[in-house]
Amino acid sequence: MNFKLVVGWLYPELMSTYGDRGNIIVLTKRCEWRGIGVDIQMIDFKTVRKNIESCNVIFGGGSQDRQQGIVIDDLRTKKGPVLKELFEKGVPGLFVCGAPQLLGHYYMTGDGKVLEGLGIFDMESKHFGKSKPRCIGNTIAEIEAGFRVQGLGYRKTVVGFENHGGRTYLGAGVKPFAKVMKGCGNNGEDGTEGAVYKNCIACYSHGPFLPKNPHIADWLISKALEVKYKKKILLKQLDDALEWQAHEFML
Ligand code: GLN
Repeated sequence: MNFKLVVGWLYPELMSTYGDRGNIIVLTKRCEWRGIGVDIQMIDFKTVRKNIESCNVIFGGGSQDRQQGIVIDDLRTKKGPVLKELFEKGVPGLFVCGAPQLLGHYYMTGDGKVLEGLGIFDMESKHFGKSKPRCIGNTIAEIEAGFRVQGLGYRKTVVGFENHGGRTYLGAGVKPFAKVMKGCGNNGEDGTEGAVYKNCIACYSHGPFLPKNPHIADWLISKALEVKYKKKILLKQLDDALEWQAHEFML
């Protein structure tokens, strides 16, 4: 059987900072190396419902307050309902920094403007302006829930790079993605990094994130295939020597 995945990418021109595009390249290459076809579906202002419905995994990158302000109305009113339907069905997603801030209940920008979010993740984010320093630097965190894919390489750690002014506080409806070992994570206070809702991961790790964390890339691919084809599909182990070397180097 020829497997094929459609990777949805939220507002690529406005939401992609610190190498976030690398996550799309990783998802594409890791599928292609296994003979799985990939189409990239840009999700921006003109994208209609049926194109979003065709997506099997969704990625949203970071963006500064100004760009978040530009996309939020379109994202919430036009894309929000169909994205929610996909996520409820188990379609996986990875959302980095600025994207998850908008997928929570709200994000308060550095100048105090409240951007009402999609409410997919039970969490809220707030930028404290100049009263709190930005969180900048390389990060290490330990995954809390299981992201192991049968037969494939795994580490309990995830490594990344964070650069955000906003702080995120989780509600009871999400689980933290990981426990901070180095860096700020969600807010620099409670030791949490990111959030998980159904098969969607929110995190503050750019870097880009997936090249140095191939276990998470494969988890997303494996979930996308499982949901689309309604059965577990075993993934071939790739030669990840370089990827793990990068991961170990960061540790
Ligand atoms: N504007 C957000 C903040 O500063 C997100 C930044 C980002 O995506 N890197 O918190």
